[in-house]
Amino acid sequence: AKPRHADLLDDLNPAQREAVTHAGSPLLVVAGAGSGKTRVLTRRIAYLLAERDVHPGQIMAITFTNKAAAEMRERVSDLVGRRANAMWVSTFHSMCVRILRREAKTLDMSSSFSIYDSDDTKRLITLVARDLDIDPKKYAARTLAIHISNLKNELIDPDKAVADAGNDLERRVAEVYVEYQRRLNQANAFDFDDLIMRTVELLQTFPDVAEYYRRRFRHVLVDEYQDTNHAQYTLIRELVGTEENEAELEPAELCVVGDADQSIYAFRGATIRNIEEFERDFPNARTVLLEQNYRSTQTILNAANAVIARNPNRRAKRLWTDSGDGEKIVGYVADNEHDEAAFVAGEIDALADKGEADYSDVAVFYRTNNQSRVFEEIFIRLGLPYKVVGGVRFYERREVRDMLAYLRVLANPEDTVSLRRVLNVPKRGIGDRAEAVIATYAERERISFAQALRGAVNGEVPLLNPRSAKAITGFVELMDELGEIVESGAEVADILEAVLERTGYRAELEESDDPQDASRVENLTELVTVAREFTEFTAEVAGPDGELPEAVPVDPGVPEPGSLPAFLERVSLVADADSIPAADGGDDGEGHDAGVVTLMTVHTAKGLEYPVVFGTGWEDGIFPHMRALGDPTELAEERRLAYVAITRARKRFYVSRSMVRSAWGQPQMNPASRFLDELPADLVDWRRLAPSSSSGGFGSSGGSPRAATTWGSRGGGSSSPSRSAGTSPFGKGWKDTVALKLDVGDRVSHDKYGLGTVVACDGAGPRATATIDFGAAGKVRLMLIGSVPMVKL
Ligand code: ATP
Ligand code: MG
Repeated sequence: AKPRHADLLDDLNPAQREAVTHAGSPLLVVAGAGSGKTRVLTRRIAYLLAERDVHPGQIMAITFTNKAAAEMRERVSDLVGRRANAMWVSTFHSMCVRILRREAKTLDMSSSFSIYDSDDTKRLITLVARDLDIDPKKYAARTLAIHISNLKNELIDPDKAVADAGNDLERRVAEVYVEYQRRLNQANAFDFDDLIMRTVELLQTFPDVAEYYRRRFRHVLVDEYQDTNHAQYTLIRELVGTEENEAELEPAELCVVGDADQSIYAFRGATIRNIEEFERDFPNARTVLLEQNYRSTQTILNAANAVIARNPNRRAKRLWTDSGDGEKIVGYVADNEHDEAAFVAGEIDALADKGEADYSDVAVFYRTNNQSRVFEEIFIRLGLPYKVVGGVRFYERREVRDMLAYLRVLANPEDTVSLRRVLNVPKRGIGDRAEAVIATYAERERISFAQALRGAVNGEVPLLNPRSAKAITGFVELMDELGEIVESGAEVADILEAVLERTGYRAELEESDDPQDASRVENLTELVTVAREFTEFTAEVAGPDGELPEAVPVDPGVPEPGSLPAFLERVSLVADADSIPAADGGDDGEGHDAGVVTLMTVHTAKGLEYPVVFGTGWEDGIFPHMRALGDPTELAEERRLAYVAITRARKRFYVSRSMVRSAWGQPQMNPASRFLDELPADLVDWRRLAPSSSSGGFGSSGGSPRAATTWGSRGGGSSSPSRSAGTSPFGKGWKDTVALKLDVGDRVSHDKYGLGTVVACDGAGPRATATIDFGAAGKVRLMLIGSVPMVKL
């Protein structure tokens, strides 16, 4: 049944109604979080179909994620029925794939083209750079990839890149770009950025194609407009058409919605210029402002407004709600990240027990994916159903698997699967052919793959070319060297460090400019932390002199406590527990399941809302990210991220930080996030402000008894030694140094990294950091407050 006009407008405020019914000229809806922008967009589509006799096939709506697209389609279907299926509702990328499949021939491609993801892209650029004799030390493949991606986001094609190149780097990039693009074509492939850039090219080069789409789509609607980049902006312009280039065809009706304060994808070229200059880009544009928020309590809004107000050069806007003040924000200062996770878990449990929230009402946010591990571990232990959205589970991540494969081979050289996994990782010149020759030889001689490798070292393997034999010799020597470290009884974390170091695995990631590789390094930091804690826990059980108390039986077949095999066993068990499906079985493949707590980064949470939100890790160096500490532009982006985090919450917002957080297996003192200072004091109810160690344990300093009970009664057998009440979380050998004052050029000695020279200093007081060159250990940026395991020489 066709809904009546009134039904679609009844539950909208006057500004929203204006946006839904506006006809003709381009429309921009700018408004703060939770003011109904997405609702307006969805409702506008329904209104077009129901009241303006627009055919669904004439509608193109663009959302930021596939999930958002599916939701929008579903909501429109709820409003107008199955007719909604003929609409195009998708992300920029899927929309372009659809157009390109149809028009591939025009671009001399076949419609069966492949789409290269960032991994494929990197691989191809590596090949190209090698063939062009480009020194990978000077121009890493990932650096080249980022530059090429940036060029594509700016719609600069290879020819123009060559013409524009003004310095050595730009010339190299352009040279690679030309060849890379040629090979993409040859392979009948588009990379991610091509999907947008080549669609723009298609529309700009072939007027008849452009006209076809302009005639077809009479309504173009874009959500999250603040996160569009130049290529996407141009694509929209081309689709809509302009007065000048359309003699007889009116431009399509354009409606975009966005919030400059929620622009958080600058690293992908997103620019709020697109919002700010909308009225100039699209003459006669109408702008509608929405100010009433329907999502959150006034307390949550006031907190969000106070934080974002600190950003310079923004248009101030006031968000208000008539839903009342609601609960205060709850703050918690944790001893360490395990304590923080325990607090979050305890609080979720309490809310569930009291019937105040289902698990599915709750979201836990962190700044980077690697922070999910501690939450996952305690949630598994407590049987709290959860789901990590976006980001691979920790132990499934490629880099973590690579490292575990090395450890497995060291523990068991006959583990052929692991051995073959790491044989050429990082690349050391043992190609597929050589691997095949070894495998065949092993089979024929009925020996293991590892033995066959030794055979190759001794020249016993026929058909193996000398270069491969040499590379294999290098690998076998490397593994022997690492094997000796294992034999010598080194701690697991130290073995891991040796693997990271001597294989060159870490160096390769650190040299890369790809943000994904930076997060890989962070994940490896986490893995070292896991290993370090594993040993410390064992040592705690064993007592100070390292002897196991007699009461602990040592079964045959059970790996020796603290040993490498014991570690590998534990990790496998965690990974198994990981894959147990949620108890309710209601996993619909989306983030917001019935009965499951959702864990995700703030970036992933954009556009979503939850009754209860936990913002965790609010520490300078974590959130805001270390990278932003000395950079006002990046800091403003982090602050927008904080604004996004707070405004996801409908009823309750929790915020927490940890005094100490492990990094590279070492406890690191983190100062409070500056964003915490920016929350108005009267809005926050601090459950615990000071760490508990001075008063002898959890919850005893007027803190959260619930969290303490939950941890204590259910969390026995934790791997974390630092949770133990009343003891120093630092363990032995820790120097307590107060705020080191360092200058560029100072020499230092660090417990972990050794001797180093200060190359840069940033920030002041509790936020002071220094970048220190530790030679072989690389350059490291460290906080200088509190307990730094480092002395000035
Ligand atoms: P964000 O900036 O986070 O993307 P948004 O501006 O897109 O937020 P919506 O998600 O559309 O906001 O709306 C926020 C919440 O408010 C939703 O639950 C929505 O259903 C509700 N809402 C919006 N407008 C109204 C209204 N007029 N009456 C009742 N509820 C509303
Ligand atoms: Mg929205």
